[in-house]
Amino acid sequence: MFVLDACRQRVLGFFARGRPVAADAGGFGPRCAHRCEVPDLSAGRGEGEGFVQFMKTLDGGRISIGAMSLGIAQAALDASVRYSKERKQFGRSIADFQAIQLLLADMVTELEAARLLVYATARLKDRGQPFTRFSAMAKLKASTVAMRAADAAVQIHGGAGYMTDHPVERYFRDAKLMEIGEGTSQIQKLIIAREILREAGHRIGG
Ligand SMILES: Cc1cc2nc3c(=O)[nH]c(=O)nc-3n(C[C@H](O)[C@H](O)[C@H](O)COP(=O)(O)OP(=O)(O)OC[C@H]3O[C@@H](n4cnc5c(N)ncnc54)[C@H](O)[C@@H]3O)c2cc1C
Repeated sequence: MFVLDACRQRVLGFFARGRPVAADAGGFGPRCAHRCEVPDLSAGRGEGEGFVQFMKTLDGGRISIGAMSLGIAQAALDASVRYSKERKQFGRSIADFQAIQLLLADMVTELEAARLLVYATARLKDRGQPFTRFSAMAKLKASTVAMRAADAAVQIHGGAGYMTDHPVERYFRDAKLMEIGEGTSQIQKLIIAREILREAGHRIGG
C-alpha cells in the first residue's frame, strides 16, 4: 500500500505488509512520483492508529472508486450507442440488430442501478451515518458494472474496439483497475459479509 501526494508530486509513504518501504512508483500509468520521501506520518495521531486511519480513508475512497466506475460505464455506453448508429453491416446500422440492442439495454440498466447505490452511499456519508458496508457494496457493484460495460463496448465495436483509435480499449483497462484498487472485489465481499453478520450480532471467528 502506498500514499501519493498528487499536488506536490511526491510519495508520502510506502507500506508493504505493515512495514514502510522506500521504492519508486513505476510500473503503471496513473503515477506522479519522482522521488520517495517518507516523513513522519504519525503527526497528530497516536502510535499504532495508522491502520484504523487507513481503513477509514478506504471507506470514503471506495465511494470515489464507485463514482469513477460510473463514469467509465457511462463513457462505454455513450461510445457504444454512437458507434452502433454509425457502423453499417449488411446494409444497416448495427444498432438495428437486436443482439446489439440487448447489450445496450443491459449496460444502461446496470449502470442506473449502480448509480443509485453509489449516490445512496454518498448520502449516508454526508449525513454522518455508518457507511462501511454500503461503500464496499457500491464499489463492488459499480466496478463490476463498469467492467461489464467496457466488455460489451469492446464487443459492440468488434475488431475496432481492440484498437487504440477508439477509447473503449482504454475503458476496458481502466475498468479492471476499479475491481482491484482500494481493495479487490473479493475483499469487498468479505467486508460486506463481515458487516452484515456484525449487524446481526455475529463476530466472524469470535
Ligand atoms: C494501477 C494501480 C494503481 C494503484 N494505486 C494505488 C494507490 O494509489 N495507493 C495504494 O495504496 N494502492 C494502490 N494500488 C494497489 C491496490 O490497492 C492493490 O493492488 C490492491 O489492493 C490488491 O492488493 P494486491 O495487489 O496486494 O493483491 P493481493 O492481496 O496479493 O491479492 C491477489 C488476489 O488474491 C485475492 N485475495 C487476497 N486476499 C484474499 C482473502 N483474504 N480472501 C479472498 N481473496 C483474497 C485478491 O482478491 C486477488 O484476487 C494500485 C494498484 C494498481 C494496479
